[in-house]
Amino acid sequence: MKLSIIIPVLNEQESLPELLSRIRAVAKQSNHTFQVIFVDDGSKDQSWESINRLANEEPPASELEIEGIRFRRNFGKAAALSAGIEAAQSDLVITMDADLQDDPKEIPRLLEKLDEGFDVVSGWKKRRFDPWHKVWPSRFFNWMVSRSTGVRLHDHNCGFKIYRREVFDEVRLYGEMHRFIPVLAASRGWRVSEIPVEHHPRIHGSSKYGFSRFFKGFLDLLTVYFLTGYRQRPQHMLGTLGLLSLFFGTLTLVTLTGEWIVSRLLPGWEPIHLHERALFYYAILALLLGVQLISSGFLAELIIASHRPSSPVYSIAGRTTSRRNAPSE
Ligand code: UDP
Ligand code: MG
Repeated sequence: MKLSIIIPVLNEQESLPELLSRIRAVAKQSNHTFQVIFVDDGSKDQSWESINRLANEEPPASELEIEGIRFRRNFGKAAALSAGIEAAQSDLVITMDADLQDDPKEIPRLLEKLDEGFDVVSGWKKRRFDPWHKVWPSRFFNWMVSRSTGVRLHDHNCGFKIYRREVFDEVRLYGEMHRFIPVLAASRGWRVSEIPVEHHPRIHGSSKYGFSRFFKGFLDLLTVYFLTGYRQRPQHMLGTLGLLSLFFGTLTLVTLTGEWIVSRLLPGWEPIHLHERALFYYAILALLLGVQLISSGFLAELIIASHRPSSPVYSIAGRTTSRRNAPSE
């Protein structure tokens, strides 16, 4: 059987030959052929020359097939992975980083776990060799993603994963959504799991992501939360917030009006002036916000109602029939 390994590459020239020889060592011990797809995501160093050399030097009868794809500029890791998936020829796809931090010797274990009946198996860098200012925010991020999406993994963003290829017929990678593949896949009913994998410190080159990844990751989490839960029913989210806002605005206005009437009618009460009460302005703000949220919800519903999605809103795991000679799964 053939296995496709997709490796996004951005300025990793020093690591590539060693990475390939580690993959070769694994391929030699297994009975699979490996299709190794390097996707050069706009490197400015000699990465592309290195990929070319490795592909040219590979003997024809080798257990590795090496392919290279070169982007005209840097399009990001998600784009690189999706170009690789497009080129993958096998039913099983592995993704791993090019920087030697992921260890190819874990591939058989990932495969084994997938065979237990999963569609996505994610690596978990249990003992992680990255600086603390990356590890701690990342732990918090993983905790937050697990809590808010219900997909409980220790390491959502690990680059080292194995998938059944069909998963990507339904999960589209764009922007920086590669961090959320397990969540996006699980939301369509694909079975997701994880195993601890060995991790190594980065020896060559430098990390491509700074601290800003956590802000972007948080914004993407909001998007993913919305898309996985409310894609087909946006008014349920926006409308709920809108109704809550209307409720509190109305309640406050009614209370204030009651107070005003009482203060006018009862002798001895200091008459109150509504325009002097801060709450009055908050109430009006809440009413306006409520109307805004509900009308955005209607706009979103209108878009969905008139839009024909490129892939179905459901995901089919199998079919059966009573007709003879008809295919069943
Ligand atoms: N990468 C890429 N395009 C980008 C950023 C990163 O192809 O725009 C690749 C990079 O070459 C590496 C992998 O994605 O193979 C992970 O990047 P990095 O090691 O910098 O991430 P970290 O390990 O620091 O999370
Ligand atoms: Mg790395």
